[in-house]
Amino acid sequence: MIDELMAACYQFDVVVVGGGHAGAEAALAAARLGAKTALLTSNLDTIAQMSCNPAIGGVAKGQIVREIDALGGAMGLAIDRTGIQFRMLNRSKGPAMHGPRAQADKRAYHQEIRRILEEQPGVSLRQETVEELIVERQTDRSAPLRVVGVRVLGDAVYRAGAVVLCAGTFMRGLLHVGDVSFPGGRMGEPAVAGLSRSLEQLGFELARFKTGTPARLNGLSLQYDRLTVQHGDDQPQPFSFLTERIDCQQLPCWITYTNSEVHELIRANLHRAPMYTGQIRSTGPRYCPSIETKVVRFADRTRHQLFLEPEGRNTHEVYINGLSTSLPRDVQDAMLRLIPGLQRAEVLRYGYAIEYDYLPPHQLRPSLETKLVEGLFAAGQINGTTGYEEAAGQGLIAGANAALKLCGKEPLMLRRDQAYLGVMIDDLVTRGVDEPYRMFTSRAEYRLLLRHDNADRRLTPIGRQLGLVDDRRWRRFELKDAAIRRISALLEEV
Ligand code: FAD
Repeated sequence: MIDELMAACYQFDVVVVGGGHAGAEAALAAARLGAKTALLTSNLDTIAQMSCNPAIGGVAKGQIVREIDALGGAMGLAIDRTGIQFRMLNRSKGPAMHGPRAQADKRAYHQEIRRILEEQPGVSLRQETVEELIVERQTDRSAPLRVVGVRVLGDAVYRAGAVVLCAGTFMRGLLHVGDVSFPGGRMGEPAVAGLSRSLEQLGFELARFKTGTPARLNGLSLQYDRLTVQHGDDQPQPFSFLTERIDCQQLPCWITYTNSEVHELIRANLHRAPMYTGQIRSTGPRYCPSIETKVVRFADRTRHQLFLEPEGRNTHEVYINGLSTSLPRDVQDAMLRLIPGLQRAEVLRYGYAIEYDYLPPHQLRPSLETKLVEGLFAAGQINGTTGYEEAAGQGLIAGANAALKLCGKEPLMLRRDQAYLGVMIDDLVTRGVDEPYRMFTSRAEYRLLLRHDNADRRLTPIGRQLGLVDDRRWRRFELKDAAIRRISALLEEV
């Protein structure tokens, strides 16, 4: 029950909890559908922060970004405006397998999403940490409980008809570096305990997953003559159907490799690796393993490829893609001394692992509303997925469905033959997860139809009908669609 003597009480239609990739798209979608929406997040300076690699897209993930864009979302536009290197992956395969990917200027990406949120009519951004869900019994006592708002730290209440939970890796987050572990939602940010407690009290089952990230280096300390350069595409292709072209100057990435000496060092220190000492007990993403896992699992491999990716235009910070680890700091330092090009590298941030609570997604309906509490939706990492794109896609669907529910309309549910978003949500709610879920083309049985270049033809009319797609995007779509129809008719005639 809401305490009427509460010092501050605010009224919204939809409250979104957490301003990560899921929360940002959820708030935007709900507001585009006319809901007065509050996006409550612990720190406004970390909106849409990339916790791990500074990149958007990739095989299957790039298709998801195009689908989000086709439904009016922000991710594609933001990466087009802030990307520093664009590459179309899998070009040697057929068009359905092409996957757009871009390195992001991490800081600029966060600022761009924040600007889009600030400019979106109907969205109120508030720096608040949500501690508790507030629910009520419905008049029909056999009906499920109904969410009516949230209580935030500092004892204020936000009332709402629907709440979308997008808490990412923050629920009871526990960070690990070597044998040291301490609470945190991400390095440098506090974990959130109240929300887990509140969900458990309501009868939800919670489980734990793990993920990890590599060290970040000062790019000025790298020996570039020992690295192989990797340039972006000559003609970079935009993510958004609204972007005409990418004009920015692209930055190069660099490639190096681990070697048997590095692998020996890791093997000699496995007794200090939280993944192997029993300190970390939860399952991590199978396809983003730590370097210690790769060395153990692929014992016959003599080297692993590492990509050195700049984190932005206005910083020298470099991300080491492929070297995720939670080994102790001295082992991380020693590893770098053995890798060509990194021997003199200065570490800016050490790698670490994190364990966190998630909400096993069999507790969700296909609309991403929870079965147990009416009006309560969940999206992103909290549903057992991994990746910015997977999170943003769920955010858009959950935010839209929260707003549609308040208008008494049918939810937006995409089929498996319509979208990767449909495949992902169907997989989550019907099969559940036993490891962090990421998207692959192989998960989509209709993958030949679900190309990145036809995401607009598959989804923009659906988005337009619901009100997610504005006039500018719709006009653009109509022009393209008419041109395709004209050419198809001509081909048939000839
Ligand atoms: P997040 O991006 O985590 O955002 C959650 C937001 O909610 C944060 O802004 C937080 O402040 C806010 N918040 C949380 N609780 C509350 C509350 N109670 N009140 C108010 N605000 C709240 N993904 C990969 O695909 N590959 C990887 O290798 C990989 N490695 C990772 C390594 C680390 C260390 C971490 C932390 C994440 C990693 N990820 C990786 C996951 C990736 O970052 C997430 O999939 C993605 O960010 C999920 O987006 P999200 O919006 O669900 O949550």
